[in-house]
Amino acid sequence: MFGLQGRTAMSERRFIEAGELPARADVVIIGGGPAGTAAAWAVERAAPGTQVVLLEQSGSLGAGASLASLENFRTCWPALCLARMMQRSVDVFLNPAADLGENVALGVKRQGYLYVAVDEKGAVSLRCDVMHLHNIGLSHVEYLDTSEVAYRYPWLGARVVAAKFDPLAGWLDSHALIHAYASHTRAARFALGVQDTRIRIRNGRVGGVTTAGGTIDAPNVVIAAGANARQVGRSAGIEIPVVVRPRQSFTTPWRHESFPEDAPCIISAPPFPHVRPEARAGAIFGWEYGGVPTLAAPEQPAESFRDSRFPSLTLALLARQFGHRDGDGFADPRYLRGISHRAGYYVCRSGAYATLPDGTQQPYESQRAIIDAWPGLDGLFLSVAHVGHGVMSSPAAGEILAAKVLGRALPDPAYADFGLDVPYVEHDAGGLH
Ligand SMILES: Cc1cc2nc3c(=O)[nH]c(=O)nc-3n(C[C@H](O)[C@H](O)[C@H](O)COP(=O)(O)OP(=O)(O)OC[C@H]3O[C@@H](n4cnc5c(N)ncnc54)[C@H](O)[C@@H]3O)c2cc1C
Repeated sequence: MFGLQGRTAMSERRFIEAGELPARADVVIIGGGPAGTAAAWAVERAAPGTQVVLLEQSGSLGAGASLASLENFRTCWPALCLARMMQRSVDVFLNPAADLGENVALGVKRQGYLYVAVDEKGAVSLRCDVMHLHNIGLSHVEYLDTSEVAYRYPWLGARVVAAKFDPLAGWLDSHALIHAYASHTRAARFALGVQDTRIRIRNGRVGGVTTAGGTIDAPNVVIAAGANARQVGRSAGIEIPVVVRPRQSFTTPWRHESFPEDAPCIISAPPFPHVRPEARAGAIFGWEYGGVPTLAAPEQPAESFRDSRFPSLTLALLARQFGHRDGDGFADPRYLRGISHRAGYYVCRSGAYATLPDGTQQPYESQRAIIDAWPGLDGLFLSVAHVGHGVMSSPAAGEILAAKVLGRALPDPAYADFGLDVPYVEHDAGGLH
């Protein structure tokens, strides 16, 4: 299926302009975020010589949700398919030379993820989590009792009664990762500033794309357009089952002196505000707080959902949970100066449900991306709905997508759960909890 059809027409440059599109390609990928660039990287690695053209509407790669991301990664996922996906991906981050080239610099900080409990109920819940994670093979995740947390992290204070620690977690530079995928391809071309991309159907199957800058004939098209996935799918006459939810983060240039530079990412008690050190002196915060709308597709730029109260609410919540009084810890007003506040869309699979013993179907919020072929339309593939982990899952997500496009076996049988028609998977509900 994969030949050299586009080779002679291709520019030798990796990045091309919207008006320089080749006439033909083997695979066209729509969207240049973590999902799309990882797909280009993985397809080319699995089938060298495949002519991949990635179309990005913006003037640079990584122009979607990853701009607001905390760029964290962790292995402690309770659903087996997600746990396997993250283990593979984290392996790439921690040993990038083998998969992304010798000199790649991803800015990885492996400082761990620390989930804390501030009461006995939370401690029991963390202990159960850790037992389950050990049962699915994640024996490196630790349960820390009160004295162990106090010994390792005295600066957290006396409120913390227990913790769950993932030592294979941390964060990286998502922009560097996206560009590492692009740089580690030879034949792939990345076209920037490409507007109005539509999927062409010919003789009942995918025939390529049309764009404002030209047309590409291609037997395979991948939709990896983040929050715009549903809209791109409509150009092929399909309705992709995803919803979008705005989500905020903010960075402070200052961090309290008691919060050390080598601290892990702290996931606090429900409703799970989280924070980690950023650069030498700052911190980055996130929290999915109530009241955000769930939309079928973006109605306005994600940035318009920034709530000016979000930083102070997040800090107040953390201060309350950690018992910091006015002026101290997270209640120190210096955190509120010079904040950079961002928002992006989480994209989530819709239609997941559990079947109850009486046969009724109970909808739930799935954490699983959709990485699959679209049934009934040969040549159309999706890598969408990466929720709040599309940076950390991107290496494995790219490899799953490549297997689908190339008609090969999945790298791990558990990855079948990322299929479009898999409504339920055990332990798939919930995000940080
Ligand atoms: C506040 C926040 C915090 C987060 N924290 C983390 C975290 O700590 N760790 C983690 O792993 N993930 C995190 N995420 C999630 C992560 O950012 C996303 O899951 C990830 O960016 C999804 O990747 P994607 O490639 O599917 O989509 P995107 O990153 O949204 O990229 C889509 C790309 O497609 C382009 N595009 C869209 N439409 C078109 C079109 N029609 N034609 C051509 N190009 C198009 C866009 O310009 C963009 O470049 C966070 C997200 C948010 C919002």
